Amino acid sequence: MTKLEQIYEGKAKKVFRTDDPARFIVEYKDDATAFNGLKKGTIAGKGAINNQMTNRLMALLEKQGVPTHFVEELSERETVVKKVEIVPLEVIIRNISAGHFAQNYGVEEGVVFDEPTIEFSYKNDDLGDPLINSYHARALKLATREEIDTIVRLAFQVNKVLQEFFLTIGIKLVDFKLEFGRLSDGTIVLADEISPDTCRLWDKETNEKLDKDRFRRDLGNVEGAYQEVMGRLLGKQP
Ligand code: UDP
Repeated sequence: MTKLEQIYEGKAKKVFRTDDPARFIVEYKDDATAFNGLKKGTIAGKGAINNQMTNRLMALLEKQGVPTHFVEELSERETVVKKVEIVPLEVIIRNISAGHFAQNYGVEEGVVFDEPTIEFSYKNDDLGDPLINSYHARALKLATREEIDTIVRLAFQVNKVLQEFFLTIGIKLVDFKLEFGRLSDGTIVLADEISPDTCRLWDKETNEKLDKDRFRRDLGNVEGAYQEVMGRLLGKQP
């Protein structure tokens, strides 16, 4: 497969066209942003970790029956994915209170929910990714009712698979963000990434934060946290 011209550059990834019209190549960067781009920085080695972690988790999800855009890892930072049209919704699942949930509803971080929650943000940087509900999403024609039903079902299935998996490596999956895409035939598949940039991951015993909150909140040892998660995931306890 030949990597052709870049068609998109986001905050953490670049996307390239290929000689196969049904495939893109994504390349992960070390750039990190937070608070809708207000805080910028670099996390050394992040691109390679997020690429490889995403691919391993996507492969696990495929095995458990969740359709994804993942095709093949090309290198440390590059992956072939199916070409999709991204549904402009950020789908957030939470198992434990943290971040905006804790802030918005006036609860402390760390409250374990009886059942996971789901919420949507309209993926639109100019508007600051506002929270919307499924009726708003349909009114804005971001997705159909059937697509939203599929997305909700898949998102909870992803949560179940990932929550169980992370527990086996001593990590609590606190919350995370997913994005979905449409293949050319309209099939909804999981897209984007699953990494410490997009998940809150706490050590099961100590509740130490092993995710991007270390960058957002200047907690230090950001690289170390990403490496720790990757090391556990590879079964090579550092
Ligand atoms: N998240 C993300 N991208 C965003 C917003 C949130 O990946 O643009 C992830 C975030 O890492 C966390 C979860 O979604 O794991 C819930 O985030 P929250 O709504 O609490 O917002 P935050 O405090 O992260 O801005």
